[in-house]
Amino acid sequence: MRIPNNRSAAMQNHRCCATGCKRFTSIQYLMCSFHWNMVPACLQTEIWANCHRGKRLNSHPTDQYLHVVNLAIEAVENAEERYRNQHVKDLFTSNA
Ligand SMILES: [Zn+2]
Repeated sequence: MRIPNNRSAAMQNHRCCATGCKRFTSIQYLMCSFHWNMVPACLQTEIWANCHRGKRLNSHPTDQYLHVVNLAIEAVENAEERYRNQHVKDLFTSNA
C-alpha cells in the first residue's frame, strides 16, 4: 500500500464548504458527511449531476454548478439555524 506524502494528501482534500466548518473532506465531495446530510436530496442530486467527480476544484466550474453549491450552503445554514433556535427554545422550556 502506498502512503501519500503531505503534498498529494493536501491535493486530495479540502475544507468542507459549509459556512464555518473546519473539517477536511475528499476533493470529490463538496462537504463533510455531517453537513452533506443536511443538504436536501434534490440539491444533492443536482450537485452530482453538475460536477465532474474528482475534479470539483478545477478552475472552470459552470455557473449552474456554482448556483447549486450556493443553494446547498444556504440550505445547511438554514438547517443549522433551525437547530440552534430549537436548542435555545428547549433550554427555556425544559426548566418550566
Ligand atoms: Zn462540514
